[in-house]
Amino acid sequence: MGKGFFNVPIAVNEPVKSYAPGSPERQEVLEAYKAMYNSKIDVPLYINGKDVSTGNTRTMSPPHDHQHIVGEYHLAEQKHVDEAIATALEARKTWSQLPWEHRAGIFLKAAELIAGPYRAKINAATMIAQSKTIHQAEIDAACEFIDFLRFNVQFMTDIYAEQPESTSDAWNRIEYRPLEGFTYAVTPFNFTAISGNLPACMALMGNVVVWKPSDSQIFSAKIIMDVFKEAGVPDGVINVVFGDPVMITNTVLAHQDFSGLHFTGSTFIFKELWKQIGENIHTYKTYPRIVGETGGKDFIIAHKSANPKQVATAISRGAFEFQGQKCSAASRAYIPKGIWNDVRDFVLEDIASFKMGSPEDMNNFITAVIHEGSFDKLAKYIDQAKTDGDAEIIAGGGYDKSKGYFIEPTVIVTTNPKYTTMETELFGPVITIYVYEDDAYSETLKLVDDTSEYALTGAVIARERYAIDEATKALQNSAGNFYINDKPTGAVVGQQPFGGARASGTNDKAGSAQNLLRWVSPRMIKETFVTPTDYRYPFLG
Ligand code: NAD
Repeated sequence: MGKGFFNVPIAVNEPVKSYAPGSPERQEVLEAYKAMYNSKIDVPLYINGKDVSTGNTRTMSPPHDHQHIVGEYHLAEQKHVDEAIATALEARKTWSQLPWEHRAGIFLKAAELIAGPYRAKINAATMIAQSKTIHQAEIDAACEFIDFLRFNVQFMTDIYAEQPESTSDAWNRIEYRPLEGFTYAVTPFNFTAISGNLPACMALMGNVVVWKPSDSQIFSAKIIMDVFKEAGVPDGVINVVFGDPVMITNTVLAHQDFSGLHFTGSTFIFKELWKQIGENIHTYKTYPRIVGETGGKDFIIAHKSANPKQVATAISRGAFEFQGQKCSAASRAYIPKGIWNDVRDFVLEDIASFKMGSPEDMNNFITAVIHEGSFDKLAKYIDQAKTDGDAEIIAGGGYDKSKGYFIEPTVIVTTNPKYTTMETELFGPVITIYVYEDDAYSETLKLVDDTSEYALTGAVIARERYAIDEATKALQNSAGNFYINDKPTGAVVGQQPFGGARASGTNDKAGSAQNLLRWVSPRMIKETFVTPTDYRYPFLG
């Protein structure tokens, strides 16, 4: 920026549309859904601004109708990954030098494209690819993605404005350089917004990116690529490769110019990538930045003073929306005996009213889980609970993959607070509940804290303030996002920056300036106005 201190538009959260019967947005998204569902797309790799078809393809199908084909995507070979890296490094020469207002302009434009002409498309694609209801698609693919783009532009300028003190004889300046080399974004299936944000926020800060989306999200990732292209992301700045994650990752992490990993996904994979980066550390020209947001075993603890209906609603929404496939989804709950019967009855009533099926039918609250691997894993844990003496299934327990990967919303009640489903991330519509003695609140808080390796989200529900205070202190390290009298899901960019600690990730808070700071390497510039000409200090006499 050579000719002005420009202000960017103040970021505001995108309003969530209702999609109520009769609304124009409902009609528009259903039309987009039908059109996409009944045609087939071809998704090539995207390298140096060009579509690259490899001819080695895989089909894409909606999880709620796995025999229905909505398109194909192309698998990369190693030479394509090499090409993506080479092209990114070439693009860096101009992109990293482009004044920031142009980067801001591109991503603000991307936000407006999603808010307007691409909204129905990106929501419909997310309904098809990830089996989200329209509400879940809207709060993710449209609103959260728009918020990431808008707020990150504002955070970028906040970072740039952060400058050191100067004196009359020396002017101190910090410039926030992009990382030297190229960055790698590896994204999960469950949020279209995360998928778009991980590469976009690194590119916004002047970096160049190789992006590998999840196989299960490519159908909606294609719309993100279309938006980036139309918004004017220059060729080579964000390159997209699909295919064997091990081959792609091995190729990327073996490169001397690899300078940063932006990962969201499961804990095990992240730890493996971290290990691999460690093993290759002597190869790299710089110390790579490593940011990973990973798994969770998110909790709700109710106190005996809690309102049972509020607890039940937090469970029904927190555990079952998007089939429990949010990293923040409540999957273990601790309920005091005194209110348990009421909480149970309300939860059972809610579940009985849930309808399950395709997201195209907007009466459905529950749709399918993402793929057969996830379905089989969930079915195995459910079957195990049916036979274990210390577990009882009080709702759901059924599953059917004949048409789509449908798992009934399932509630397991256990007498063993360390029961396997109290500890393990299942990532599906299953919650396990432990009922504790009303007066064992303090001991139960300890259980909440030390039962799982994760520390992503959690909620306390209570009317009594001392109980809220006790939980806030006892669970200080048990969740990176802690909720009082709410469900533990639904973080909003700019309001609740998101991320957990322990095995849940590096806690660099997606949707905050803190995250963007990981993608820059500050250069301190001191300019002295009257340069000394004598080495001797006065003390030398
Ligand atoms: P996943 O770990 O299976 O996949 C994530 C990405 O890693 C995908 O792109 C995948 O292709 C890639 N990958 C898989 N194996 C790999 C390998 N061997 N080498 C390199 N890359 C590999 O996760 P998922 O099923 O897509 O997403 C669900 C997980 O993500 C859950 O654990 C959830 O808690 C977590 N998640 C966390 C957050 C958060 O903010 N903490 C947000 C969303 C999802």
